[in-house]
Amino acid sequence: MPEVYNWQLGRKMKFPFQEAYPKKQFAFVFNLNRCIACQTCTMACKSTWTFSKGQEFMWWNNVETKPYGGYPQHWDIKLLKMLDESHKKMGRKPIWKSEMEKGTARPYGVYEGLTIFEALPGESTPMGFTPSEVALGYLPGDKEWRFPNIFEDSPYGPLGKRNAFVHSKGTSLPEHEHWFFYLPRLCNHCTYPACLAACPRKAIYKREEDGIVLIDQKRCRGYKKCVEACPYKKPMFRSATRVSEKCIACYPRIEGKDPLSNGKPMETRCMTACVGKIRIQGLVDIDSNGVWKKDPQNPIYFLVHVEKVALPLYPQFGTLPNGYYIPPRWVPRKYLYQMFGPGVDEAIERYTAPSRDLLGLLQLFRTTQKIIFKFEVQKTGEKIYETTINGKKWAMYNDRVIGYDKDGEIVVDTKVLEPIFERKQKDQFGYYKHYNSI
Ligand code: SF4
Ligand code: SF4
Ligand code: SF4
Repeated sequence: MPEVYNWQLGRKMKFPFQEAYPKKQFAFVFNLNRCIACQTCTMACKSTWTFSKGQEFMWWNNVETKPYGGYPQHWDIKLLKMLDESHKKMGRKPIWKSEMEKGTARPYGVYEGLTIFEALPGESTPMGFTPSEVALGYLPGDKEWRFPNIFEDSPYGPLGKRNAFVHSKGTSLPEHEHWFFYLPRLCNHCTYPACLAACPRKAIYKREEDGIVLIDQKRCRGYKKCVEACPYKKPMFRSATRVSEKCIACYPRIEGKDPLSNGKPMETRCMTACVGKIRIQGLVDIDSNGVWKKDPQNPIYFLVHVEKVALPLYPQFGTLPNGYYIPPRWVPRKYLYQMFGPGVDEAIERYTAPSRDLLGLLQLFRTTQKIIFKFEVQKTGEKIYETTINGKKWAMYNDRVIGYDKDGEIVVDTKVLEPIFERKQKDQFGYYKHYNSI
């Protein structure tokens, strides 16, 4: 099997195809500290793409409650267990060596465990590999797809004791004894997609212009090998057409073909609908070696590689997912290390006491539907607040924050402190006047 470089793992890994990278990559950052599981994103996708016959169970975007929830049910626990068994069989340990040199090509150190492409039995099986055996995976049963957010709002509790969740101590940061959090998910448009690798029909492809992974509906024969191999379980089989479907990254919007976009690249439906303002999505430039080109003014690059507050979901799976998450502060660290790798402590520390640039950029989440290609924080604002965080002094400044579109035109111009408008005038009934009053 060829070897490819996976910068999230800091090493080369086995993958069925040679290295080939897009010029730009669709990527997104979700701030898990802010998601309220309102499912507006979920419904935005559903009402746009999956409202037809045979798509009833499909939630290309879903928001699940961790630690117990999952769509399909227990998708990550099942694969983690399989991966664990493979490690035991092969005498390996899923450890990260993080004292290695860090940089854009190795930001979290080196993962020494097995990826899903490496965790299969040796290549010397008498029958050789069949296409379904390119990655460790499983096919969920029909019942596992029933709920997009099963165990909604169920906090972590003692094993086997129902409703033994409440305790008298109350909770306080940094970590809560009883906790849960919401995890919004969609296809990660991975750099090394397991769905693509597993497809015997070569019906899945990754676009050169933006790295979006699509299933060619005419080539697909519904073998479900993609469903089996995708560690995130994001391809779904449609019984009405007998082919598989998945998130298409709302590509007409990325291409600037949405009637509202005036030809400018626009964020996807699930991103722009986000009520909690937890999401930002963009495009990053990719070097010929697959590593992101240095571009600190690109919001996604800044969050992932400069501030390192946003981390990949289960990087150890090895597909190099392009969705990144700011981890929730109140969740026990061991759980977060398993889910986001070794960058968790640094990410939470930087998010808890954000730099002026980071705080400025966080204000741009969901301020425009256009993709922001460049941002700028003008550090000229007055000091508006100061406090002590983790024993260190921290101050907030009301800086100006500007977002630019693909052509360098300003699409957002705002400040750290949201302007407050007071309605002073009263109407004839004694109520404060509303702009939409009749
Ligand atoms: S998340 Fe799954 S479906 Fe999406 S590109 Fe990665 S492997 Fe394929
Ligand atoms: S990017 Fe578009 S297709 Fe994909 S989950 Fe979001 S709304 Fe659905
Ligand atoms: S719309 Fe935003 S806040 Fe609401 S569930 Fe989706 S990601 Fe979370």
